[in-house]
Amino acid sequence: MMFTRFRIAALAAAALTVSGCASTQNARDFETQFALAQTALAEDIAVLASDEFLGRRPGTEGEIKTLDFMERELKRAGLVSGTNDPANPWRAPVGLVTTVAQSGNVILTIEGSEVLLDASDATVLTGSSRALVEGAELVYVGSAAAGVDADAVSGKVAILQGEPGKSPARRAKLFDQGAIAVITLVETQNSILSLRNSAGRERFQLASSVDDAISAYVTRAAMAEAIPGWEGYVEQLEELLKENSSAVLPLSATARIEASTDRREVTSHNLIGKLPGTNPDAGAVLMLAHWDHFGECGELGDEDRLCNGAADNASGVAAIIELARRLARSGPHDRDIYVLGTTAEEWGLLGAEAFAENPPLPLDEIVAAFNFDTVALAPRGGAIGFIGEGETPLDPLVAQAIANSGRDQGSRILAEQFLQRQDGWALLQRGVPAIVISSAFGDEDRLNDYLSTRYHSADDEIEGMELGGAVEDLLLHQSLIEQVASVEGYSPAAK
Ligand SMILES: [Zn+2]
Repeated sequence: MMFTRFRIAALAAAALTVSGCASTQNARDFETQFALAQTALAEDIAVLASDEFLGRRPGTEGEIKTLDFMERELKRAGLVSGTNDPANPWRAPVGLVTTVAQSGNVILTIEGSEVLLDASDATVLTGSSRALVEGAELVYVGSAAAGVDADAVSGKVAILQGEPGKSPARRAKLFDQGAIAVITLVETQNSILSLRNSAGRERFQLASSVDDAISAYVTRAAMAEAIPGWEGYVEQLEELLKENSSAVLPLSATARIEASTDRREVTSHNLIGKLPGTNPDAGAVLMLAHWDHFGECGELGDEDRLCNGAADNASGVAAIIELARRLARSGPHDRDIYVLGTTAEEWGLLGAEAFAENPPLPLDEIVAAFNFDTVALAPRGGAIGFIGEGETPLDPLVAQAIANSGRDQGSRILAEQFLQRQDGWALLQRGVPAIVISSAFGDEDRLNDYLSTRYHSADDEIEGMELGGAVEDLLLHQSLIEQVASVEGYSPAAK
């Protein structure tokens, strides 16, 4: 990660050295603003998380309602379209593909006889509507820890020893080297079942990056039963690896692997508004929050299956809408302020990826991006989680803002765990200073409680939602963004 040097212009010192009388007045003003912001947040979350919005699943009526609401509120506040694309005002199309696994099987041919692996021991996943590999030679690559030679796997089916946390990258490498399919060995039939169940639920991918590769999963026990002398091959490869760390072992066996997938094209949208600044050449500030959620995600047969996503992420969307209103009133600001509602975050930051791939302004013009995700968990006065600390030149400004708030900073280890699990990551990877400042990530017990109960379930409802921390965070962002949107308040060094 490259860091740029920066300079913070002298801040208005008044806020830090107020007299007793003025500070009483400040406290009263704060309480007034707190109450107003709390009311606005509560009202907007209630709309976005209502049953009428159908859980905000991409490509549904829930998407249309959500985008209509956001556009209307932002227009009312005085914002204009931020897509910078006259053909698509406000809504930047994001091409998605949904896949639902239909069927698949693995047949091994050893010394002329065929073995069809039982469905409880094998499953096949692909993004392709219909995929077939026939008569392909099998090659055992072990855990492929040191990588393998392309010549050894190209055009073949690689059998990979699964290793928690490491298999996806190693599988991708094998495909890069020309493997036509990869069979990953797993330990239990439960792993097969959960892979099949999750592939059997509709999931979204970016149309530009649908994975058509054929990935089969087989239990180690079934492989050992199907291929006579399997344990001997495993030992043989271990011996070979002592001589050559990229060795593989060709097996005198072939595979027939097939799978079919129900695949549909869906056009979803990122919603993009803009509060024009007086000096847009000085760059832009971005506020973002994902608007999408799962629609129905409860268990079949449950009375309430609708996943309203009140905290995740009606709360974040409400926060950027209310901030847009406040920033419009306190403007004009020097820099443009963009407001982005991303789609399909829940399936892997897809809308944020699409924004970063096809941004409405050059990404290097964004001086700071503030993401809001699941912001309403902690009560007033709690510690502030800072995700992205150490990754951008914004650290000193954030430290000052936290100090000004009189609150503590939460655990850095806790915040760090969420760095790659939020939309800002798609921007940060491309050099955009993107951070999250939220009390929701400052209190480990509360966060864990949410994650183990309401998170991604039909219970993420507005009832019992805690707004105090979110409102404090919102007011903190307001002054921080006012500062960052001002050329005098914040100037990244010339690149
Ligand atoms: Zn989520």
